[in-house]
Amino acid sequence: MRPEILFPLFAETSRLQGVGPRLSKLLETVAGPHVVDLLWLLPSGVIDRRFSPRIADAPHGVGCTITVTVVEHRAPPNRRRPYVVLCSDDSGMLELIFFNAKGDYLMQLLPPGATRVVSGKVEHYNNSYQMPHPDHMIPPEQIESILALEPVYPLTQGLTPKVLRRAIDGAMARLPMLPEWGDTALLARERWTPWNESLRAAHAPETHEALSPLAPARRRLAYDELLANQLALAMVRQHQKRRKGRSIKGDGALFKRAEEALPYQLTNAQRMALAEISADMAESARMLRLLQGDVGSGKTIVAFLAMLGAIEAGYQTALMAPTEILARQHFQTIAPLAEALGLRIAVLTGRDKGRAREALLADLAAGDIHVLVGTHALFQQDVGFHDLAFAVVDEQHRFGVHQRMAFSDKGAGVDMLVMTATPIPRTLAMTAYGDLDVSRLTEKPPGRQPITTRAVPAPRLDEVVAAVGRSIETGARAYWVCPLVEESELIDAAAAEERHHHLAGLFGSRVGLVHGRMKATEKDAVMEAFKSGEIDILVATTVIEVGVDVPEATIMVIEHAERFGLAQLHQLRGRGAGASSCLLLYQTPLGETARARLKVLRETEDGFRIAEEDLRLRGSGEVLGTRQSGLPSFRVADLAVHGDLLETARDDARLILNRDPDLASERGQALRVLLYLFERDAAVQFLKSG
Ligand code: ADP
Ligand code: MG
Repeated sequence: MRPEILFPLFAETSRLQGVGPRLSKLLETVAGPHVVDLLWLLPSGVIDRRFSPRIADAPHGVGCTITVTVVEHRAPPNRRRPYVVLCSDDSGMLELIFFNAKGDYLMQLLPPGATRVVSGKVEHYNNSYQMPHPDHMIPPEQIESILALEPVYPLTQGLTPKVLRRAIDGAMARLPMLPEWGDTALLARERWTPWNESLRAAHAPETHEALSPLAPARRRLAYDELLANQLALAMVRQHQKRRKGRSIKGDGALFKRAEEALPYQLTNAQRMALAEISADMAESARMLRLLQGDVGSGKTIVAFLAMLGAIEAGYQTALMAPTEILARQHFQTIAPLAEALGLRIAVLTGRDKGRAREALLADLAAGDIHVLVGTHALFQQDVGFHDLAFAVVDEQHRFGVHQRMAFSDKGAGVDMLVMTATPIPRTLAMTAYGDLDVSRLTEKPPGRQPITTRAVPAPRLDEVVAAVGRSIETGARAYWVCPLVEESELIDAAAAEERHHHLAGLFGSRVGLVHGRMKATEKDAVMEAFKSGEIDILVATTVIEVGVDVPEATIMVIEHAERFGLAQLHQLRGRGAGASSCLLLYQTPLGETARARLKVLRETEDGFRIAEEDLRLRGSGEVLGTRQSGLPSFRVADLAVHGDLLETARDDARLILNRDPDLASERGQALRVLLYLFERDAAVQFLKSG
């Protein structure tokens, strides 16, 4: 249950005075549905309203606050021309310019002959001085109310600065006095003020420096958010660890035979990862390790070889994949090896039903199956192992805490290896997993063909279509990826459908379509058709799973490449096994950052370098579309600049739970409020005293 003290902040914005249904919609667009969302909407700039020159001294393009006398109103002859209010001071004339103005209203606000203070940006236009749509027009006795630094907020169509500020002021007025959750020594060292004060300061910048993410107030707020994230993850981890792990040591016999049977040598990176994994398994603490490596870097074989240690020690193992097709692919990869070693391996997905399934479950419960590969179906109630000790979760590019948790119920102290093809920087990985260990396959198996990456401006689409057409004639297959346009699968699907329609008009039934609004079985069927060569061009949104092996798919076209995270692009282009070419279609003109990003992609195939660059160029929120990746998103924190705070937060979270595992102390209670404040409260259920 959310603490009562936070109720005012989690009310809908429409509860604020002066916020009606129309405004609350707009507020939802810029911030979110709740009052608390307005608090996190921090100013992006500040206007200095204290600058009050005479008209003749007002520079072009600069915000000025000027005291003037209203001379006359000039209503426009038609709607296309602006309404002009002529004003003066002893130095010259100033024209206030209004498009779509209401004359009556302006006449009331600016009666001829009256003295008024107007504030806004001055423009020199031909020989006149103009101020289009002043931000403020007030009688001189109210000048004190605006002569200050005014924060500037990100806006949306239809939302004026004044109205937004009023809503934010309303939200700030509801700030409860929250108990201090910060560590006293840390607060002192960083010279941080209490939460309320920091928030106030962040909303009332007094200098341009105060807008920087490095300003103390913003760092404090970012820290709070990161602490909530790390604490929640540490609580999940603590919950898992309460069921102790066990030390698993094989005798190496199966491993040795498997290695001899492999048609290739393991790379050094693979060997290193295996050594790290076996060392973890030998520890009595429960293992949680992330195995990172591009598609095709050889993670699956590492996972399988690691399983052998557990099997040697007499235990069972499991491998879970996000989709049916990937589960079956993993099964096909490891089944020959497993069977050559005399092991029993089985596959279980939602498709398996009836007698066969019952027989499989019976064998599993009896301990006769050594390796079970499957999908979410592995977590079904009636799936019981004899003694599961080691589980691998192939997360490809979606991160899901819940899946990792669910395995804990299938065995006592299951050691966990999480595989991902997403080359995220360590800091980002920490926000998804907390304090975890990472092995990286930085080296590709030998013999991989390089990928040629070219950036092509969108107006040359027809040439790209023609080139793809020529390639499929020679037996190649192509992925055609349409991006996430909106946070809506409906709209994304529409874009992909349109492209599919266009290409199908040219290439007929050789073009297939897959997107997020299709059922899992439908998606799998299309992927199968692409794999078997029934279709040659697969139009897809980014929901297509990475890791489905289609060796003939050597061409990758990505539309609106400028909208993707680099890591995502890298992962997408890395799927073909043969010599591959990747065409990045981009919309012109290309911004500075977008240009730099596409350049990185052309220059390197090192996924980890790409991920770090992306973090540097775009900031953490953007490295992966958050919805896509399952990575947590942050409101205030930006890992590109707050990386140090993340480390501190991780250490702090660890210390807190060591001292006060159930958050029962006074600070513990305050930390619970923090978790709810940042909506990271799902983990609270794991505490003994709810
Ligand atoms: P990932 O799971 O990382 O996508 P896989 O384990 O599926 O990669 O490996 C991709 C392909 O490379 C497989 O066909 C596998 O047999 C092969 N492979 C794995 N390791 C090596 C290696 N060291 N040398 C050569 N080929 C390898
Ligand atoms: Mg693979």
